[in-house]
Amino acid sequence: AEYKLKTNTKSEYGKRMVFDDHDRQMMERRFLLTSVIRKALDDETFRIFYQPIYSFRNQSYTKAEALLRLYDENLGWITPDEFIPIAEEQGLIHDLGLYVLEHVCRKLVDRKKKGLPPVGIHINVSTVQFSKNGFFASFMEIIDRYGIDPSQIVMEVTESIMIQSFDFIMAIMKRFIDRGVCFSLDDFGTGYSSLNYIAALPISSIKLDKSFIDRSEKSDVYALLIKNVVEIARGLKIELIVEGVETTGQVKTLTKIGCEAMQGYYFSKPLPETELDNFFYQDISRPAACETSAVS
Ligand code: C2E
Ligand code: MG
Ligand code: MG
Ligand code: MG
Repeated sequence: AEYKLKTNTKSEYGKRMVFDDHDRQMMERRFLLTSVIRKALDDETFRIFYQPIYSFRNQSYTKAEALLRLYDENLGWITPDEFIPIAEEQGLIHDLGLYVLEHVCRKLVDRKKKGLPPVGIHINVSTVQFSKNGFFASFMEIIDRYGIDPSQIVMEVTESIMIQSFDFIMAIMKRFIDRGVCFSLDDFGTGYSSLNYIAALPISSIKLDKSFIDRSEKSDVYALLIKNVVEIARGLKIELIVEGVETTGQVKTLTKIGCEAMQGYYFSKPLPETELDNFFYQDISRPAACETSAVS
């Protein structure tokens, strides 16, 4: 959110800049959340939940997306859609991003020790993180320190990375790819020039935004668009993962169109890390539709 100064034209001194009540409340909330984020980083109380990704081709869950969770005693659950932009504005996203990676690596090491099969983990990476000097080095340092196979890590980025120079972004992506880290284009279809980006960026998967699936139920045009995205992805040999799949009807429609990977409440909500073990440990050949009551 942006906090614009409003002009108070009533002032006898001419134009004066004031905040209205709404602005003040937003500022206070942002101020409060900044300190909550700082504290949660220090105390390591951010939690990471994992949402399994189902592959119809493999007939199993092969990957999961790491999603940050923040709970505060006074404020209750705070959604990433609220705290991520604040972390970005306050320069805390760099530490937060490394925190997520570190905790994911710990989880992968823990799985290895328990003799559980390897899984791929998708990590959301903010565009802001790319602009930080040493981003590549600090990211890889963690992966190497834990002895993780880099190909187990998939970085989810959005089209907004293209606000930086194309050459700059390509150079960073190439360094990661050389080490085996893959990229996925998140929230596909919500931006402006999506098709450009899938052609230009070295991505191995696309995540089709939930809004597409929702609209496809009411509009044939959207169903047709999904069908075409499926075909484009297949042509480019890029995996397509459909996000936010909730109902049996959607699964039916999507499989008919040829979608091979899906993620959403129909399959599983994001799970606390302890539940992830059991989830991926079972030999799951069918979706465990909405079995968990975990906080999403
Ligand atoms: P995203 O990466 O597009 O993640 C998908 C969001 O959709 C998640 O929300 C997930 O819980 C939710 N979701 C999954 N399946 C369904 C479904 O069937 N129905 C509905 N209604 N929702 C579903 P969440 O966890 O609240 O995260 C929101 C956004 O916050 C993420 O969108 C991502 O952009 C950002 N985020 C989350 N964790 C991180 C992180 O570690 N780092 C960064 N930079 N951003 C993060
Ligand atoms: Mg994502
Ligand atoms: Mg998304
Ligand atoms: Mg999103």
